[in-house]
Amino acid sequence: MTQKFTTIDTLKSFLREQKLAKKNWGFVPTMGALHEGHLQLVKKASEENDFVVVSIFVNPTQFNNVSDLEKYPRNIDKDIQLLETLGKQIVVFTPETKEMYPHTSILKFDFGNLENVMEGSFRAGHFNGVALVVSKLFHIVQPKKAYFGQKDLQQCRVIGCLVRDLDFDLELVICPTMRENDGLAMSSRNTRLDANQRKEAVKISQSLFEAEKKIKNKENWVDILAEIETFYKNSDLRLEYFLMADNQNLTILNSYQDQKKVAICVAAYAGEVRLIDNIVVEI
Ligand code: AMP
Repeated sequence: MTQKFTTIDTLKSFLREQKLAKKNWGFVPTMGALHEGHLQLVKKASEENDFVVVSIFVNPTQFNNVSDLEKYPRNIDKDIQLLETLGKQIVVFTPETKEMYPHTSILKFDFGNLENVMEGSFRAGHFNGVALVVSKLFHIVQPKKAYFGQKDLQQCRVIGCLVRDLDFDLELVICPTMRENDGLAMSSRNTRLDANQRKEAVKISQSLFEAEKKIKNKENWVDILAEIETFYKNSDLRLEYFLMADNQNLTILNSYQDQKKVAICVAAYAGEVRLIDNIVVEI
């Protein structure tokens, strides 16, 4: 059973009643165009809570590229149908932009080194927008637990910092990346790929698994990186970054010696569609 809310006030008053009834709820924030990766979060949240709040909101403040925002896939009716197939109690929150942002916010977050690399360095203002919307949603929904995907590893670390430093009274649950059968990480943006781009896009996860194999074979990271860069040059993809970072603080590493776990992270364009992926490797 799904219930739909579009305004903050009606959602809050519903949740107040649920609190009085001693119910607890999990929260899955999304930008819609739902796929199995999202559904996995919703399923886990419904196993661990009385019901789940799913927000569907394409958050304009986290887009640094107007065309990416305009072309972001949107299909709320299909999303709700998909959620209904789960047969769980799900509360869907689909606010309009003016509901979430009645005025322009001047608030600025600074996540220091956590946002000076990867997505933060290539998408100016991205994590400011993420932190702003996630903070607002946490205040509105006040969940016991909030569920995020490892697919957006840097986002997980930024939100971890937000929750810890601002004492949000909730538990973060990070769920593994769901992949298509050939290894491509599921993403709403995959729907924008044409047949050739889709064929090329699988090379992104292949490059991660190849790097992992080479790490396990104790190859030098600098050599691995050179091989991976050649692999991308021989593809139709345009590599933005491919790097190894500390799994927690995301400091970029040139060697995996003395590390227990490293994150290998990549961003690449297939045509004009920007895709990201990562894996965490135990050394
Ligand atoms: P998005 O709608 O892209 O903002 O994603 C909403 C949530 O789903 C975020 O926590 C994402 O990390 C998570 N997510 C997106 N794709 C995947 C995936 N393939 N596997 C696991 N989680 C995912």
